[in-house]
Amino acid sequence: MTQAIERTLEPKNLTSTSTFTALRCKECGEEYEAKAIHVCEDVCFGPLEVVYDYDKIRQQVTRESIQSGPNSIWRYKQFLPVATENPIDVGTGMTPLLRANRLARRLGLNKLFIKNDAVNMPTLSFKDRVVSVALTRARELGFSTVSCASTGNLANSTAAIAAHAGLDCCVFIPSDLEAGKVLGTLIYAPTVMAVHGNYDQVNRLCCEVANTHGWGFVNINLRPYYSEGSKTLGFEVAEQLGWQLPDHIVAPLASGSLFGKIHKGFNEFVKVGLVDEKPVRFSGAQAEGCSPIAQAFKEGRDFVTPVKPNTIAKSIAIGNPADGVYALEIARKTNGNIESVTDAEIIDGMKLLAETEGIFTETAGGTTIAVLKKLVEAGKIDPDETTVAYITGNGLKTQEAVQGYIGEPLTIDPKLDSFERALERAQTLGRLEWQQTMV
Ligand SMILES: *Cc1c(COP(=O)(O)O)cnc(C)c1O
Ligand SMILES: [Zn+2]
Repeated sequence: MTQAIERTLEPKNLTSTSTFTALRCKECGEEYEAKAIHVCEDVCFGPLEVVYDYDKIRQQVTRESIQSGPNSIWRYKQFLPVATENPIDVGTGMTPLLRANRLARRLGLNKLFIKNDAVNMPTLSFKDRVVSVALTRARELGFSTVSCASTGNLANSTAAIAAHAGLDCCVFIPSDLEAGKVLGTLIYAPTVMAVHGNYDQVNRLCCEVANTHGWGFVNINLRPYYSEGSKTLGFEVAEQLGWQLPDHIVAPLASGSLFGKIHKGFNEFVKVGLVDEKPVRFSGAQAEGCSPIAQAFKEGRDFVTPVKPNTIAKSIAIGNPADGVYALEIARKTNGNIESVTDAEIIDGMKLLAETEGIFTETAGGTTIAVLKKLVEAGKIDPDETTVAYITGNGLKTQEAVQGYIGEPLTIDPKLDSFERALERAQTLGRLEWQQTMV
């Protein structure tokens, strides 16, 4: 470690009410102080995870205490790795869990829900959850500059929440991102490094920068804290279903982290007695143009072979997924599936969700809906399973994807007869009729 990094690290700074105690290697079990490290440097280079004192959590938390907490992810504070009583709360979390009856009917399901993080705060993707946690911990550990390697949404979120918290921010993105993702970062005035290369190359560069500069990279040296934020997508669904677990969930896979943390969130609620134990099937969604985990699943492999991404689903285009093997393990042991869909199917998925439920999601959400459809058609989701599809990002950020695949407005003069003629034309085109006959 360089001196620059040592300077920014303070002691563990845990308090008597803190519910987490240390970091532990997921592979060999070696424990580390809860600092800004993410791999098992002393033994096996496995990933580190936060260790909690679940007896303490059980004593501190009830359904009622959670319900009377803030209307944000911080109602689950005892399950998150921060010591402060004043976390960075920008209203992240508690997004709608929508009963999706029209989409369900279209697909042939009876109990379908959409967890809608397309309207998460402040930057309209699930990444606000992980960043709220990571930057709160970054501040506790004494970092003044925060950073990330991003496929787009993470840069939006890191820049916005850093601005709110008054932290300096420098983000790294691939140079070919959608205009909405770039603009949605620049507006917060961080330093933006657009790297000629794909995400995996950006990530490799950032690992080097993390080693040479004393910055807090939310998804590198702060990754053990960051990734815990995704558990709130499990907690909220359980609470919103009336303190019950669903039968089946479908979520997108990039690094595979989100998928594993929803699983961990459900398990923790069972462990502390907030919900009854029950088997939940975990199914994952990838774009065919970047589907290393889906390929490993289909071929029955327990290792993931990296690929070079080529898909419109840029936010989930990670060719070398850090948590891929854990995602495989979870899908297999819960009797779930991992499927991939083409870019054309992704666009259809975006349109289907918009037309049936009024939700405009980005390409990652289109991937999830297209995989949901594919799994139902293949008989891999039972119509009576309570199924939750996780929509993780907003379509306004990836407008390029649907450009040319949706209708055009009918341009008319401000006169009634002009309107009537246009309406007639629209009806002959069958457009309105088609809309009226839709379930
Ligand atoms: C980052 C991202 C994901 C997946 O995240 P992982 O935890 O890396 O698997 C899914 N959807 C959207 C919109 C994202 O930005
Ligand atoms: Zn280890």
